[in-house]
Amino acid sequence: MSTDSTGFEAAASRLRIVLVGTQHPGNIGAAARAMKTMGLLRLVLVAPEKTPDDRDAMAMAAGADDLIAAAPVFATLAEAVADCRLVLGCTARNRRVQLEQLSPREAAAQAVAVAGSDEVALVFGRERTGLDNDELQLCHAAVHIPSDPAFSSLNLAAAVQVLSYELRTTALAAARSPGTPPVTATPAREGAASHAELEGFFGQLADTLDAIDFHKGRAPESAMRKLRRLYLRAGLDSAEVRLLRGVLADAQRMAMLAGRAEPGPD
Ligand code: SAH
Repeated sequence: MSTDSTGFEAAASRLRIVLVGTQHPGNIGAAARAMKTMGLLRLVLVAPEKTPDDRDAMAMAAGADDLIAAAPVFATLAEAVADCRLVLGCTARNRRVQLEQLSPREAAAQAVAVAGSDEVALVFGRERTGLDNDELQLCHAAVHIPSDPAFSSLNLAAAVQVLSYELRTTALAAARSPGTPPVTATPAREGAASHAELEGFFGQLADTLDAIDFHKGRAPESAMRKLRRLYLRAGLDSAEVRLLRGVLADAQRMAMLAGRAEPGPD
């Protein structure tokens, strides 16, 4: 086996394509085919509307049905990406969510760099409604294929094809010149925090902000979105997440003591 293909396969083995709430099984088949043509073999499904062992899915897979047979099925996106260090959400619309927005090429560069050592997910939404806001909040950045704004939505499998092609091109280039990572924006780091560790931290942060009455009647979503973005940009490792959670635990304890010390109504 050549160096190229070994390097490529190492990166591809840590890249997963996650399809959320797919409505048409035929699209799952076509997405599997799109992936397999680009050497990406890890398909993950989140709550598909119909079982993927469907005739349409198999027909559209045209020989890529092994990817569907091997695809784990999760109930939620959070579970499907719990062990990932980088999660990129593909959206047909440039929208409200305050997430960094990447082109497919930039996304591929970050994904391949992180896949050198850690798990990476590219997430695709439902045919009718895409990814909902809560799902996008689980992503570290949004990826938008620069389609015509007047007709911006690609077929799901076509979007998977574009991203899979970019991933392949980038990973092959990286494999050809090992030691020159495609980007340094998100360098691989020893002990990088997993998605689940970060979500645990964000949950505790939200509880703490409530406990210290940070929001003062305002809706918490906007501040939480900005804080998520800030902490995600920092590329925290597991030890740093533990340290921050220790700080939060003390703040929560102090808030509880202060609550108890407040003079009662009588
Ligand atoms: N009507 C939906 C479009 C869903 S298309 C909406 O407006 O959100 C199904 C999925 O394909 C999307 O959730 C997204 O993951 C992917 N997709 C389609 N067009 C895309 C584009 N231009 N850029 C990035 N992803 C796209």
